[in-house]
Amino acid sequence: MRPRDDPSRADTPRRAPAALAAAAVLCVAGACAREAPAEPPPRWNVLLVSLDTCRADRLSCYGHPRATPAVDRLAREGVLFRDCVAQSTITAPSHLSILTGQHVARHGLGRNLPFPRPPYTLATVLGEAGWETAAFTGHGPLQASSIDVLGFGTVESWVGPPRAPLSRDLDEVLPGAVRWLDERGDAPFFLFVHAFDPHCPYWPDERFREPAAAWYEGPLDPRAMCGPDFAPLLADGTFGPDEKRLVSDLYDAEVAAADAALGRFLVELDRRSLLADTLVVFTSDHGEVLGDHGRLGHGRMYEEELRVPLVLRFPGGRPVGVVEAPVQHVDLVPTVLSALGLAVPDGVQGVDLMPLVRGEAGAVPADRLRVSRTADLVGVRGGGGEKAVFELVDGEPTAGRLFDLARDPGELDDLSATPAGRGAYDRLLARWRDWKAATAEADARWRGRPRDAAPDAEMLQALGYAGDGGVDGED
Ligand SMILES: [Zn+2]
Repeated sequence: MRPRDDPSRADTPRRAPAALAAAAVLCVAGACAREAPAEPPPRWNVLLVSLDTCRADRLSCYGHPRATPAVDRLAREGVLFRDCVAQSTITAPSHLSILTGQHVARHGLGRNLPFPRPPYTLATVLGEAGWETAAFTGHGPLQASSIDVLGFGTVESWVGPPRAPLSRDLDEVLPGAVRWLDERGDAPFFLFVHAFDPHCPYWPDERFREPAAAWYEGPLDPRAMCGPDFAPLLADGTFGPDEKRLVSDLYDAEVAAADAALGRFLVELDRRSLLADTLVVFTSDHGEVLGDHGRLGHGRMYEEELRVPLVLRFPGGRPVGVVEAPVQHVDLVPTVLSALGLAVPDGVQGVDLMPLVRGEAGAVPADRLRVSRTADLVGVRGGGGEKAVFELVDGEPTAGRLFDLARDPGELDDLSATPAGRGAYDRLLARWRDWKAATAEADARWRGRPRDAAPDAEMLQALGYAGDGGVDGED
């Protein structure tokens, strides 16, 4: 981890967390041996912001040249995880992993179907510990009728005018969240906020759209670039270099619009003196392919889709730095609970990242196995920059590919047919099989629960999810 700044320059938190007190001891003493002073566990608020379809590499704190000052502020005043991958590349499965700490193979939701009722979620655990819980979402696969099984005390899904279901931006979701903050009681809160700004169609508010798109004279109408007619644009010649640039710029504009809304929300939290007692988590459920690989959208296993931002800002805004160790979405539940001093439920598949926050080198092995899955498509990485991608047919891997991401970050060169590539692929596949065998019994126990009602098929089709079925709890 590279410290970004002098921790002594940070604001003083109202209630110094034991975890970060330990970090301060580490900084001063230069050693990990001293114990943090005994303190009661912090009853911080938790704000989880999930910006749907937001690529990590389109945020300036991850190196993008276009500014995203609000997320940058969170990173500057907290910790940025450089190498975070999503457990899935579509909305519902990924969010279920974020909120349960379970892989897709265990929670069994591989597509955008309604959520099965899980044995526990971050909302149920915090609710039972005395936190007030609420979810404000941008509709889509996270519509209220689907996520009301996740245990939030309050669920509100933004619903726009009839026939205009795709404008679920952060600006439109946040007023309800602010209202809820003002009306809630005195207990600490867990607030989950989700919005769709960077999801297609790429058509932000005019203030952000004009600078990005004013140069383009057609023929493409970006407002039509979503839903079932989206993909053929790449095949019929409509989508050339100008269109690729247009889409990229409009996507950035969507991210910028969401960042501006987030910045205003952080100001609102500050005005209410809430930021000083709130652990803020910023992430995305998956990224987006913007014309590379002959594709637009998400739902495959490309790095543009899998690499997501993960930023934590602790109360007081003490700068922590950048963590380079490999992390993934299932780590969020144990990390948040650990930061709050709460017990992590049995069976959580992620690991507690707080040792990394405290600067404990080696707390997460560099070669840890990380598995992502969307429907029957699986991506596996195990350190060393290599990633295997394969499709499951009747639960068995077929059509495998192997990429060396260190040498070929654009995933242009499938090495699975070379001797070295085949060896690396086989090793990853063997590790995945071992992992599957070791988790199979617990997977089956977790999934022994009924599914709920059918999804809103028309709405899912408008989002480009036509024809999605479910994993149905089986690999
Ligand atoms: Zn999504």
